[in-house]
Amino acid sequence: MKEFKDFEYKRPDLEATKEELKKEIEIINTSDDLEEVKKAILAFYKISGHFDTMATIASVRHSIDTTDEFYDQEEEFFNENSPYIEEILDMFNTALIENKFEKELKEAFGEHLFKMLKVQKESFSPEIIPELQEENKLVTKYSKLIASAKIEFDGKVLNIPQMGVYMENLDRDVRRGAETAIWKFYQEHVSEIDEIYDNLVKVRTNMAKKMGYENYIPLGYKRLGRTDYDDKDVKTYRDQVYRDLVPIATKIYEAQAKRIGIKDFKSYDMGLNYLDGNANPVGDLQYKLDMTRKMYHELSKESGEFVDVMLDHKLIDLEAKPGKEGGGYCTGFLDYKVPFVFANFNGTADDVGTLTHEFGHAFQAYSSRNFEITEYMWPTLEACEIHSMSMEFFTWPWMDLFFKDKTKKYKYTHLADSITFVPYGVAVDEFQHWVYENYEATPAERKKAWRDIEKKYLPYKKYDNQFLEEGNYWIRQSHIFSTAFYYIDYTLAQNCAHQFWVKNAEDHEKAWRDYYNLCKTGGSKSFLDLLKVANLKNPFVDGTVKYAVAPLQKWLDENEIK
Ligand code: ZN
Repeated sequence: MKEFKDFEYKRPDLEATKEELKKEIEIINTSDDLEEVKKAILAFYKISGHFDTMATIASVRHSIDTTDEFYDQEEEFFNENSPYIEEILDMFNTALIENKFEKELKEAFGEHLFKMLKVQKESFSPEIIPELQEENKLVTKYSKLIASAKIEFDGKVLNIPQMGVYMENLDRDVRRGAETAIWKFYQEHVSEIDEIYDNLVKVRTNMAKKMGYENYIPLGYKRLGRTDYDDKDVKTYRDQVYRDLVPIATKIYEAQAKRIGIKDFKSYDMGLNYLDGNANPVGDLQYKLDMTRKMYHELSKESGEFVDVMLDHKLIDLEAKPGKEGGGYCTGFLDYKVPFVFANFNGTADDVGTLTHEFGHAFQAYSSRNFEITEYMWPTLEACEIHSMSMEFFTWPWMDLFFKDKTKKYKYTHLADSITFVPYGVAVDEFQHWVYENYEATPAERKKAWRDIEKKYLPYKKYDNQFLEEGNYWIRQSHIFSTAFYYIDYTLAQNCAHQFWVKNAEDHEKAWRDYYNLCKTGGSKSFLDLLKVANLKNPFVDGTVKYAVAPLQKWLDENEIK
């Protein structure tokens, strides 16, 4: 296999692809030969997989350099045309669901495939193609706007990810200044961002109404492929967080404020954990990659094989550069059956966190690469994040390679952050439920709702910044724009990762076995069934949040370096 940079890209012929796909659908619909139908199903996945591979190559290269005009156009091509492929996928789904061999096909490919197809059917109609296209455009507009940020600070011109390091600076004035500079950028563009979001809410609500839903909430859940829980389940989870986790998060920040000697603890102090500085990783990129290889070889045989594939074929792009999209992600190329990891290293502990996180996703994708039903390669997103967030914990024994004498500091901060993240994630979720229930609200009303929810779940967050006081923090949370209702997935998975932390402390062999089984199972089961595969408790059941977080609080109390 080649390196990623040599993967060939060619814009697919849309009409030809559609024809090929339709031919397979025709066989599925009309053939009286079960084996022929099965073959046509797998052929369909191969053809659509190739289209997906080209779309993914274009999107990865575009995210690495958003100023590249060629891939900018290619990205636009896919934004415009992916909905037409969705239309064909819808025909394919119908052909399977209404197939005369339905029973035999369920036996051959598993019941879960049909549940997924049903939920996909309920989340798409050719009628909403214009809205889907508009949605794609709006999301691209938002991410371009954010990637275009050029913030003058510290005598440099920086993008938003590069500003992250200043939020951990020892000097309070620097932290405050960095926060001001970041939010000045957002404030300058706030009317544009408000307009993008307002249009997104409208366009999504229109889709929902056209398809007969009361509002976007049920449709949003279905578009995320959720087959076995609803907004009421999610509410029981948020309620547990409010009752059982927010008090622990509050204590963590109180301890932090004391540790860094600040009485009027503000939002810009939240990034500094120790007066002699946070634990930052040692070494350059090459060193980190060498240690990553060593770590995964020592962790297990299967993770060793995996890391060699990732590094030898350069299925990574890790350093922050101008013009590069923010954040980190993992994706995969179906034609090659390999994942790809994208990140924005900036020299902070986040680099190692992102590395182990995204490599967790990649490890799962690699472990389940051989499913011929490509739908089974990745599970729904809340399950995906279990692989990544738990991998962050499974790699703890190797953190001294990256942090040397500051390893204990890193672990404390990592665990504390994983807890304090949850109330924020839950706030983002509650906010979106408010937004799509009250879809006629104005941007100003939305901001008030955000600030109220923020105060409920993050009572310790105090601003020195009028713009943030007015309820604007959420506009930097790209998920709210790109994929409504996605964000709660991180917190559900965090709860599961906390459960793995607890299990790993009790019995490493068993915890890793459960984890690897989960990774291998990919997306061939629903979220709640995957939890059973991994012997994890259901976070929607009252008591699960408390079960997972109480041992962590104990560890934090015992391991704080004052
Ligand atoms: Zn992730």
